[in-house]
Amino acid sequence: MNVYDSHRMADTLAPAGFVETARPEDADLVILNTCHIREKAAEKVYSEIGRIREMKEAAARDGRHMVIAVAGCVAQAEGKEIIRRAGTVDLVVGSQNYHRLPDMIARAESGEKIVDTEFPVEDKFDVLAAPKHDAIAKRGISAFVTVQEGCDKFCTFCVVPYTRGAEVSRPVEKIVAEVERLTEAGVREVTLIGQNVNAYHGLGPDGRPSTLGKLLRRLAEVRGLLRLRYTTSHPRDMNADLVAAHAELAKLMPYVHLPVQTGSDRILAAMNRKHTRRDYLDVVARLRAGRADLAFTSDFIVGFPGETEADFRQTLTLVEEVGYAGAFSFMYSARPGTPAAEMTDPVPEGEKSDRLQRLQAVITRYQRSFNAGCAGRTIDVLLEKPGRLAGQIVGRSPYLQAVQVMAPARLIGSVRRVTVTEVGSNSLFGVLADETSTPALVTAGA
Ligand code: SF4
Repeated sequence: MNVYDSHRMADTLAPAGFVETARPEDADLVILNTCHIREKAAEKVYSEIGRIREMKEAAARDGRHMVIAVAGCVAQAEGKEIIRRAGTVDLVVGSQNYHRLPDMIARAESGEKIVDTEFPVEDKFDVLAAPKHDAIAKRGISAFVTVQEGCDKFCTFCVVPYTRGAEVSRPVEKIVAEVERLTEAGVREVTLIGQNVNAYHGLGPDGRPSTLGKLLRRLAEVRGLLRLRYTTSHPRDMNADLVAAHAELAKLMPYVHLPVQTGSDRILAAMNRKHTRRDYLDVVARLRAGRADLAFTSDFIVGFPGETEADFRQTLTLVEEVGYAGAFSFMYSARPGTPAAEMTDPVPEGEKSDRLQRLQAVITRYQRSFNAGCAGRTIDVLLEKPGRLAGQIVGRSPYLQAVQVMAPARLIGSVRRVTVTEVGSNSLFGVLADETSTPALVTAGA
């Protein structure tokens, strides 16, 4: 979501004459778009501000005024504390207010210090400037589109409900218009994003709340769009309509990121996840019943307060039962202000680290086996950009695996049948299957 937000900030600042630079020391404006999920997130931001302060001082010696802004969830959580601790920062803008950046920057340029972290009444998406075609094209053929923000679930370890606020969904027609604009500029794959994306309930054209399943069906009709994905989902919101969409829509990729965090019912309850292990496995089974080639990834936390060896073993058996194609796994660490941060009975660090290694070994085994299962198969690959070798194109399989294939550059932006000849540690290698008889579905810019 921060990638998407950063793009929208750049789009909104473009009419004021700002262009992006890869060298922060050359910039008139540096925005740190921050994430609060990471461990010690605030401390990392202060250390980064220290680095940029040196650039600001060098710019001042050259007679230039550099404006420093801190945006995103750390800005939302820390507010004016940022300017108190780091006086070099000119403005602090929360994740719901960045549509006001042009005005704030104008004020900051005249020396005002600004903090804007209130949840606004207006919808930022109504005010943000639309991206220009050349900016979209530069970002590639795969794009993110925010459809939902915030979360009402209040898992006890998570800061999102406090930093991104309550669940809010964008109206269907506005999302469709954004996706149409992206595809007109050459985008071929869209990932719908939201902290709790399958809780989507934006207003449909009939004025009634829609669902993610209905939204996906509508977007599947957009001309030129080849692939749809969405992330991140909550097991509780995986309703029958969304399960059916997976069975119906060829454009919806058979790949679902479905966080579970732990396989133990006792720890799921302590995490306030609002589902049990059985509920989760039922969702997986319903999705697979509709689409047998569906692959799952997930998120895991090990060493949540009170987690015993027996609880942890439940996580290992869950990984084996689902057979994930991949997963993110982390050792629990407290986030200030969350209920879990107040819990007693911490798991010793050495134990956490041991459990993480054991979990990752199992996840890696299943991931390797999933990738190895692609060898010799012919799969659809969306060709995305030139590879490192001359004549090589990098694409993505339906399961987000990078696929390297020798192919002419004119095929970028099309889905091609590729036979996988080799499985590497980070990507698959393949050859175009039947180049002559399989037409490119759509080429970039067509
Ligand atoms: S559902 Fe996800 S975003 Fe919401 S509180 Fe739980 S972990 Fe955080």
